Amino acid sequence: MSLVRRVVLNSRPGKNGEAVPENFRVEEITLPTDIKPGEVFVRTLYLSVDPYMRCRMNEDTGADYLSPWVVSGCLDGGGVGVVESSRHDAVLKGDTVTSFNWPWQTYGIVDGNKLQKLDPELVDGHLSYFLGAVGMPGLTALLGVREKGHITPGSNQTMVISGAAGACGSLAGQIARLDGCSKVVGICGSDKKCQTLTSELGFSSAVNYRSADISAALKEHCPDGVDVYFDNVGGSISDAVIAQMNQNGHVILCGQISQYNKDVPYPPPLDAATQEILCRKNITRERFTVINYMDKFEAGLLQLLAFHSVMSGGNIGKQIVKISD
Ligand code: NDP
Repeated sequence: MSLVRRVVLNSRPGKNGEAVPENFRVEEITLPTDIKPGEVFVRTLYLSVDPYMRCRMNEDTGADYLSPWVVSGCLDGGGVGVVESSRHDAVLKGDTVTSFNWPWQTYGIVDGNKLQKLDPELVDGHLSYFLGAVGMPGLTALLGVREKGHITPGSNQTMVISGAAGACGSLAGQIARLDGCSKVVGICGSDKKCQTLTSELGFSSAVNYRSADISAALKEHCPDGVDVYFDNVGGSISDAVIAQMNQNGHVILCGQISQYNKDVPYPPPLDAATQEILCRKNITRERFTVINYMDKFEAGLLQLLAFHSVMSGGNIGKQIVKISD
């Protein structure tokens, strides 16, 4: 038997209000060291913390593809770890593996069919990248921009991104720039984040929504209006952005994090004035859900790896992505 530590849901925060530390507890349990056929004994290296997890704290997550966490049950989510022992044919001791349902335990026994093998060399050993730029947030940014953004290089488009310093937003801005937007403006919650977006991540400018008048700042930074809006947050920030969008613009409805601590459906209803602008200006606002694009994950990850490699000087000569023979 081996002693492991795990995080369990102690109580539900309720649909309204923020989750607090008392909603969770850390406990020790013992795991059998002998595993059954098909099972794999893993050591956890990294766990992903994501906004959708707030929905999993509710009895009803509001999404059919998300199951609620069980009170006194172990949390699970995106994770990366290493195989300690295996009774599954496709997974060997020493393999680096990932899963969307990794248990929040120091060690765990998992179904080998639910693991995907990872090649650490692809990220120069930075395994946490598989939960970020070369994982679900990277795919969300890439596919969100590509599937719903309608970017046309050379057409002088301006994109605004809310939640711009987060996992998806920071990547969406960089991808939009690489894909041909002439201006990429981020909205985030501190001056330090604004500074990072403009000095390190290639954003044209950034607005701190906690201290700036968003409408006035957008007028200044987007003098030709907003063509594409990558919406991670919803609420009043999104109302302010949509008010400055151009005719035939596009909202990429990625997430609405400002509403997750409220008892509202997803996506939350828009206020009447914002809805009127969408109709009058013929602005699309289609919901984007990354898991609906699984057939594009492999090619998407290759592109994200290429971005990573370009940014870290991994290429000598031209870097290209081979898609098939
Ligand atoms: P992160 O936690 O990395 O970033 C979220 C950002 O939102 C933070 O940087 C935070 O920083 C900002 N934020 C938090 N609360 C508020 C608020 N009330 N008002 C304004 N900003 C706020 O999350 P991700 O980048 O992983 O996710 C971003 C969005 O994308 C989420 O809404 C998430 O649900 C969604 N998502 C959607 C997917 C899909 O398939 N559609 C897949 C993955 C994520 P700060 O306030 O300082 O700017």
